[in-house]
Amino acid sequence: MLTSGLILNCLPKRKLRPEHFRTIDVPLPDKPVLLLKSRYISVDPYMRTRMQSEGYNYIEHWVAGSHLSGWTLAEVIESRHPRFTSGDLVVGHLPMQEEVISDGKELIPTPAGINPLAYLHPLGMTGFTAWVGMQLLGKPTKNDTVLVSAAAGAVGSIAAQLAKRQGARVIVTAGRADKRDWLRRLGFQTVLDHRHPTYAAQLKRAAPTGITLDFENVGGAAFRAAIDATRVNGRIVLCGLVSQYQSARPRQSPANFAQLHQKKVSVHPFVVPHYLHHWDAFQNDMVPLVVQGGIDWHLDKISGGLDSIAPALIGLLNGDNLGKRVVAMP
Ligand code: NDP
Repeated sequence: MLTSGLILNCLPKRKLRPEHFRTIDVPLPDKPVLLLKSRYISVDPYMRTRMQSEGYNYIEHWVAGSHLSGWTLAEVIESRHPRFTSGDLVVGHLPMQEEVISDGKELIPTPAGINPLAYLHPLGMTGFTAWVGMQLLGKPTKNDTVLVSAAAGAVGSIAAQLAKRQGARVIVTAGRADKRDWLRRLGFQTVLDHRHPTYAAQLKRAAPTGITLDFENVGGAAFRAAIDATRVNGRIVLCGLVSQYQSARPRQSPANFAQLHQKKVSVHPFVVPHYLHHWDAFQNDMVPLVVQGGIDWHLDKISGGLDSIAPALIGLLNGDNLGKRVVAMP
């Protein structure tokens, strides 16, 4: 039996384009332990960082011909596994294919009574990223002034709400008016545009005594502004630098990097694969919150299956998404 799968056709030099992806036929064995049908596939900024030819990355680089993979909500179609039956919905990091085989080892079952799509967002890797960065590392209190950049995105929207729940004053940023409106509807009072030419001045006005905790998602000029606005002895949780992933000279330090030293700012860079031993604590904390509606979450669903993954990821890296972007499979 054959199924369709997505591979990296060639490495992008700078901006990702549709021709960097290719659909191929993938053979599937007879009688696998589990045969899954992909229902929703997550697209995430880190995928672009896997498509670079050099430099350290915490996750293996993709090369031309690599089978692409991502967090997927899938339905069990055939099972020879004692823990799974046909019709179960599971989440796993799986090859981007219409049908996928699995031995079941790293699949997360989705429990009845919870929207299974939550396991691709607030209860999945993006929620976990927000939770690790905010609850384990940032630890905001009511005395903090917290900045969360790209707060209408997947990680940012959860991180900002977690900080607000701790009683902190939270300043959020988003690069489009409808995203900022959404953040105001979630109850954030100070909502700025990190892409605006006067953003740095706006941020200083919004936090006249300085930011005490920056949850950094964006990098580049927005990060520079955040460093300028950070108070002496402030903290930075360095989650990501999405604006740099396709820039001509990726991952440059902000020009005001020296201020981190002068202001004695603690910087906590982190990548979630190193925190997986906290997964159960994350679930214990977040499942009740999500079930009781204590966290708002929005899915940005793109239809069209495998053919839509390239445009969906390209759009994500341009900022097209509101909330967590996923691609629905036919
Ligand atoms: P998002 O849903 O936030 O989507 C990316 C957002 O980044 C866009 O919507 C856009 O928002 C913003 N953006 C894109 N390009 C630019 C640009 N040039 N300048 C400014 N903003 C830009 O993605 P995620 O929530 O999945 O990821 C957010 C961050 O978290 C990323 O940096 C990612 O790499 C990081 N991350 C880190 C992990 C870790 O283990 N540390 C794990 C997962 C994610 P806008 O329109 O508002 O500008």
